[in-house]
Amino acid sequence: MVSIIRPYCSFLDLENKGYTLQETINAVWEQNFSDDPKWTAAKMLGSCRLAFRKSRRGSSQSAMILGCSVELRNALVQRGRLYIGWESCRVEDFTTAICCPKCAQYGHGERKCRQEANTCYRCGVLDHKSEDCKVESRKCATCHRFGQKGSETHETGARDCPARTHAEKRMAEATAHF
Ligand SMILES: [Zn+2]
Ligand SMILES: [Zn+2]
Ligand SMILES: [Zn+2]
Repeated sequence: MVSIIRPYCSFLDLENKGYTLQETINAVWEQNFSDDPKWTAAKMLGSCRLAFRKSRRGSSQSAMILGCSVELRNALVQRGRLYIGWESCRVEDFTTAICCPKCAQYGHGERKCRQEANTCYRCGVLDHKSEDCKVESRKCATCHRFGQKGSETHETGARDCPARTHAEKRMAEATAHF
């Protein structure tokens, strides 16, 4: 049985990094849902919390990842695009699986890691950090650990890593969408 986790939504392509959650949600309601009797700004705000923000260096755009109630997630994702201020931003399910920086396995963060030593992200060997790596060959540490073929064809955390794809699929399936 898969455990049901709270759905997460990401607001992508946000130009203004300074918006607080409250400002964002107020705009989402006012500009997109004010004619929908099912929603008030207060109800919307009570149905979500800010998980984290993401921005790429050198890019003016950022993303906001929200934990949402199932009802709010459905309402947001159904629209697909939302007006926030002068922008139109994309809303999608957020299903990126976390890759542990210590052991390079998906599904938990460093604080929950039960491995003592570090797994090197560069060569996949368990006993040194990637900063201290002296090994020439590059491998995906996650695939290498599971003895997967092709671990030398991509880097740890690569978009096309089969372990990552699998973890993301599992996460999407475990997310409640009804
Ligand atoms: Zn770990
Ligand atoms: Zn190494
Ligand atoms: Zn891999």
